[in-house]
Amino acid sequence: MQLPDFLKITTDSIQLPFLQQKGISVEMLRLDKIHPVISGNKWFKLKYHLQNFSDKDYHGILTFGGAWSNHILATACACQLKGIKSAGIIRGEKPSQLSYTLQQAELYGMQLRFIPRETYKRKSEKEFFEEIIKKYPNYYIIQEGGAGAEGEKGAGEILQLFNKNKYTHILCAIGTSTMFNGILSASRTNQQIIGISVIKGMNERKMKDSGKIFNNYHFGGYAKSTPELIQFMNNFYRQTNIPTDFVYTGKLSFALFDLLKKDFFPKESKILIIHSGGLQGNISLPQGTLIF
Ligand SMILES: *Cc1c(COP(=O)(O)O)cnc(C)c1O
Repeated sequence: MQLPDFLKITTDSIQLPFLQQKGISVEMLRLDKIHPVISGNKWFKLKYHLQNFSDKDYHGILTFGGAWSNHILATACACQLKGIKSAGIIRGEKPSQLSYTLQQAELYGMQLRFIPRETYKRKSEKEFFEEIIKKYPNYYIIQEGGAGAEGEKGAGEILQLFNKNKYTHILCAIGTSTMFNGILSASRTNQQIIGISVIKGMNERKMKDSGKIFNNYHFGGYAKSTPELIQFMNNFYRQTNIPTDFVYTGKLSFALFDLLKKDFFPKESKILIIHSGGLQGNISLPQGTLIF
């Protein structure tokens, strides 16, 4: 396998009669196509961490995540391709059967360690954190989800992949909000950057005037889904041939269509929606749930 290939990225025009009627164009940036495993935005968020790693004499890379984490899988695979040792601290007790994501991460050489949810939750407290990382001396540590300044800087470079000036609105999903923050700081002030939070109860915060976050499209919370969401994703696929994931990009696409229906976007808007990948997470759904 090779490192991600930016030449594989396309911007797919989504052409549906109701968009034409409204005089609005929608294109989807297919970051999901850059690599079969290091999917979507994760490569961008890892870029500067990998650079920091190479600049110093670290022993390996340690990071954190849940059983279906796209970030864990992307890190494991990127580390293998670069010949770096990797370790993952996984939320929760070790199950009798590992999730597909964790099986794959192990195949890419990541050493997994499971810790109870309670301890995991408190990992931002110094004493818990130090206890956890003590077993990994001289490892370079990447926060859960690849969050932080390096992640934001890398995510901002997503905007260099295409002619960003032609869009009036750019939409992306928000988990840790690393991608959103990076894109917002790298964007022009005359275009609106819209984040769709997939987490319930995200806090309001201050940001550049051109940024806007919607908190009402989480469908019950992180990695939760409803029949309405699944039906939307199947319909979206039928209409566009584009697969989405139920944790991030399905909710993002639903939000876009809902906002279009509610006439949130003015006539002549040129919208870019970012497909940030994550399709492997759909394997956690019962077979037959999705038609793709
Ligand atoms: C991780 C991820 C996101 C969220 O990115 P953040 O920077 O954590 O907000 C969005 N979409 C997909 C597919 C992801 O895997």
